[in-house]
Amino acid sequence: MTEKQKIAATLAAFAATLLIALVTILGMAPSRAAAPDPTPTPSPTVYVMPLETSPPQDYVLNNHTKRFHYPDCRSVPEIAEKNREDVFASRDELLARGFKSCGNCKP
Ligand SMILES: [Zn+2]
Repeated sequence: MTEKQKIAATLAAFAATLLIALVTILGMAPSRAAAPDPTPTPSPTVYVMPLETSPPQDYVLNNHTKRFHYPDCRSVPEIAEKNREDVFASRDELLARGFKSCGNCKP
C-alpha cells in the first residue's frame, strides 16, 4: 500500500463516518417532524348573547326615594338605614318593582 493509498483509505473511512452521522441525523428528522404540532388550536369563541333581562348584580335600594344605586354610589352612605336595602337583582327586575335608576351613578 502506497502512502497515497493510505491517505485515500483514511479519507474514505472518514467520509464513511461522516455519511453515517449524516444518515443518523437525517434519520432522526422525520420523528421530530412527526412530533405534535405545538401551535395551540384556537378554542371556539363563545358569544354570550344578551338576555332579555340584564344580569343580576349588587344594587342598593332606597325604599324612601325609590331609587336604586350601585353599591359604590356616593349617595349610598346617605341612605337612612331603615330605607336602605341591599339586593342582588337585575336592573329590569328593579324597574319592574317601581324603582328608578339613580341620577348620580346611573345604574
Ligand atoms: Zn346612585
